[in-house]
Amino acid sequence: MSLLITNISELVTNAPLEAVSVASPGPFEAIADAAIVLDAGRVVWTGRSAEAPAADEVVDAAGRAVLPGFVDSHAHLVFAGERGAEFAARMAGLPYSAGGIRSTVAATRAASDDELRSNLAVLAREMLAQGTTTFECKSGYGLTVADEARSVTLAGEVTPEVTYLGAHVVPPEFSGDATRYVDLVCGEMLAACAPSAKWVDVFCEEGAFGADEARAVLAAGEAAGLQPRIHANQLGPGPGVQVAVEAGAAAADHCTFLSDADVDALAASGGTVATLLPGVEFSTRSPYPDARRLLRAGVTVAIASDCNPGSCFTSSMPLCVALAVREMRMTTAEAVWAATAGGAHALRRTDVGHLGVGARADLIMLNGPSHAYLAYRPGVPLIAGVWRSGERVA
Ligand SMILES: [Zn+2]
Repeated sequence: MSLLITNISELVTNAPLEAVSVASPGPFEAIADAAIVLDAGRVVWTGRSAEAPAADEVVDAAGRAVLPGFVDSHAHLVFAGERGAEFAARMAGLPYSAGGIRSTVAATRAASDDELRSNLAVLAREMLAQGTTTFECKSGYGLTVADEARSVTLAGEVTPEVTYLGAHVVPPEFSGDATRYVDLVCGEMLAACAPSAKWVDVFCEEGAFGADEARAVLAAGEAAGLQPRIHANQLGPGPGVQVAVEAGAAAADHCTFLSDADVDALAASGGTVATLLPGVEFSTRSPYPDARRLLRAGVTVAIASDCNPGSCFTSSMPLCVALAVREMRMTTAEAVWAATAGGAHALRRTDVGHLGVGARADLIMLNGPSHAYLAYRPGVPLIAGVWRSGERVA
């Protein structure tokens, strides 16, 4: 059954990823007065409405914009409990520190599989309704062999982009003995998690893990068949970005406090994406990363939600796009590209993040005539329809 969506005021296609390399992503691209044809879960035609071929079914977009579904390359969705009071205290003046993660660890360990599964399902549905058609999901609130293993297994029920983050924070029972915990993360815990994960991640930050520990975690993960990505330079300057580039990581995430050498390393990396998470700076009332400096240097920039119960409990990519535009001075096109094609690059995916012929038919229709509405009308429910693999799902 083919589906023609026609009368689209602006069809954001981006450059088809198969036409570009990991090292050199294509630009934002859009077609005015456009149409798109989907068949068997794939995009089979894009072009001007007037030239659209016939299809089995027709949807009239009535002058709305159509974009690739968002690709959220950074989310922590396997957890129990919530930290609303911590957020309120922070807004009243208390600073954010990495240690808050431990309260979610306690709640997650105490939760049943079904509680975690239903929490995960709620968040996955919430993301889909806001236009996110591909998302990554990390473990990292279990921090025992059994709890990390069930976290990656549960994450795998909702996405293929599963990240093993045993090295999220040193759990309280290993307090003062980080080395022994890193050994566990690189040993028995990794062995239990690797079969259910695609990625290995580490929170490289003061109060979490240092450069040597991060290198050890990423190397062990790679030896077990996982691909590296990293939390880097979120709370202050540090070695995370350099570790990421050395390791050939797909992405260095946060990138809030960067030296010139860090920016140069990312620009020269040939494939390490800088993933910016402006919801975190919004929710922790912190300085935003300097997106313009990265873009000027030629670094590939993605935007993701970092949805998690502590530092940023939003799953909304439209909000992140609006923040990127308003607070990080990205253009509307740069922000939308970063939230779609950029996220796909950060996950080394070529089938999503664009609407070139052959792409997975993941797309969103906006209540508005252009992609700019995502930032122009912040906070408004703009997602009029979501298709995933060609099926209308929201
Ligand atoms: Zn994170």
